Amino acid sequence: MTMIAIMSCQRGGTGAAASTPSSRSIKSDCPTADSAIVTLTYDDNLQSQLANAVPMLNAHNMRGTFFLNDVTANVDAWKDVRAGGHELGSHTTYHPCTAQFDWVEKGNASEDYTLERMAEELDDQISMLKTLGETAPFSFAYPCGTTWIGSEQTSYIPLIQKRFIAARGVTGDIVTRLDDPMNVPAYFLEGPLEAFIGSANAAIADKGWVVFGFHGVGGDYLSVSNEDHNAFLDWLAERQDEVAVLPFRDAARCMLK
Ligand SMILES: [Zn+2]
Repeated sequence: MTMIAIMSCQRGGTGAAASTPSSRSIKSDCPTADSAIVTLTYDDNLQSQLANAVPMLNAHNMRGTFFLNDVTANVDAWKDVRAGGHELGSHTTYHPCTAQFDWVEKGNASEDYTLERMAEELDDQISMLKTLGETAPFSFAYPCGTTWIGSEQTSYIPLIQKRFIAARGVTGDIVTRLDDPMNVPAYFLEGPLEAFIGSANAAIADKGWVVFGFHGVGGDYLSVSNEDHNAFLDWLAERQDEVAVLPFRDAARCMLK
């Protein structure tokens, strides 16, 4: 699955900064409306996430969200991640992206899917998440940020809406009002550290929610270095009065009225 996620990154960073005030309601398990929220998400169940990202998050007592494809080769390791308090979400089993990318596997392109096939795959994913110890409500991340399937480019968002509380897209933006939980903005950055800090500071200034999307951490592809990843967690840990680090689902719940 080496090339699979490249488009997520290429498509990131196009959103304009929002300026509306926070509409977050105050709930006991959510930070106050004065606090920003940062969510750290990791795609494609990569080995470097297990080896590097998970231990770093644990060392900082922070919880991330891991959007998984097929994990049959590594079930026990992902069960451990869930048992450690991290969220496991769905990223589809076969990662459909448009056939216009030459790295997309024949037969598993977005164009090859029907709504029936996607519905079945999503149900299989939910079974897999349950097997790993995850519980409802579940969250989702669109492969390549693509929300359509078939030659007619039919939206599969209704299938997501039926099964998931929130879904992550790939357009970089700070969320101050969660108007569309089915396509939550996210920044895909590989560094440097200042870029992560810049987006987190924008969320702090807006008292908003910022979602980061990672692939490799100190390895694999589209990678952030271990040094930058760890330094960013250090930076967040020093600012707990201003910013709460929450898994994607928990943050979405806090942002939803
Ligand atoms: Zn992906």
